[in-house]
Amino acid sequence: MRKAIYPGSFDPITFGHQDIIARSSSIFDELIVGVLNNSAKNSLFSVDERVSMLRELTKDIPNVTVDSFDGLLVDYMKESGATIIVRGLRAVTDFEYELQIAQTNHVENPAVETVFLTTNLKYSYLSSSVVREFAAYGGDISKFVPAPFVDRIYQKYNINR
Ligand code: ADP
Repeated sequence: MRKAIYPGSFDPITFGHQDIIARSSSIFDELIVGVLNNSAKNSLFSVDERVSMLRELTKDIPNVTVDSFDGLLVDYMKESGATIIVRGLRAVTDFEYELQIAQTNHVENPAVETVFLTTNLKYSYLSSSVVREFAAYGGDISKFVPAPFVDRIYQKYNINR
């Protein structure tokens, strides 16, 4: 039984995240999408909002569940029984940070392995921060995020499109 976790901020969800979820759910028996509850980060959506959007997005994928966690990922993994971390790699700029975190997690708990999926070329430029910036200035974000969430993002910036 291979249980993996795909952790992240998902603030907001993008097509890049959706792609990684779809691909990793077909690799592993079970996938938890874990929303990090990071009080230090000033987030656009609350953790509950992000969890409920991710649940909506993944409702038709039977082996995917969505949860939130705070504190150390390796501690949450012990609790939930996941042993594999999935992360997406977009560019070399992601690599240095991801390598360091993956190695730290492995030292913390040698049973934990990190698996990297390379980004789908279509979405390699895409990040939540770019979506936030575009949305804040009323740019068209429909190419970046799944349709059900477009208006919810604009609403956060009091933008009517
Ligand atoms: P974090 O704050 O943990 O980086 P994010 O929500 O920004 O959380 O990203 C979560 C994961 O999704 C990370 O592994 C990130 O590299 C990956 N990711 C983000 N955008 C994309 C994308 N466009 N293509 C592939 N992976 C992505």
